Amino acid sequence: MEIEGKDVPVTACTTPVAEGMVVNTKGAKALRLAHTALELLLASHPVDCAHCLKNGSCELQKIAKHLGVKLKTKRFRKILPELPIDSSSPLFIYDPNKCVLCGRCVWVCQEKLGKGTIGFAYRGFRRTVTTFGDEPVGKSRCQDCSECVAICPVGALAFKAH
Ligand code: SF4
Ligand code: SF4
Repeated sequence: MEIEGKDVPVTACTTPVAEGMVVNTKGAKALRLAHTALELLLASHPVDCAHCLKNGSCELQKIAKHLGVKLKTKRFRKILPELPIDSSSPLFIYDPNKCVLCGRCVWVCQEKLGKGTIGFAYRGFRRTVTTFGDEPVGKSRCQDCSECVAICPVGALAFKAH
């Protein structure tokens, strides 16, 4: 977002509100950064909405529509992860290739429920959400509460019977 009087845009989630602050979320500089961030994210996302369990309720689709960015954008070279899909849980699938690393599932499992079954592992392009020792989720300490599935904004965590 842009703040009146500041030369460069700032991140909304880390900027404390201050008395008299004038915020613009639709300024040209802020929108340019938002477009680029989304296009970079899509450059490593396997866009296959027609066969995705979150098609129609996916937040990536909503943001792309809001910003006027095509999901199959060609601005950046596409480099896709090729990680195995985990369908070991009786209730849900975990497709790490579609994960946008938002951290919501990790937060709900660790901070809200105090379980800590899943967390972030590895660095850079290999960064992923996984269980301790990279075990399939169905063989981990996961108790299938499915709160992570409910909070996942994309098709990475999705109910099998959806
Ligand atoms: S996660 Fe969203 S953008 Fe990605 S394939 Fe599924 S519906 Fe499409
Ligand atoms: S909530 Fe979904 S998109 Fe976000 S980190 Fe977890 S699996 Fe990835």
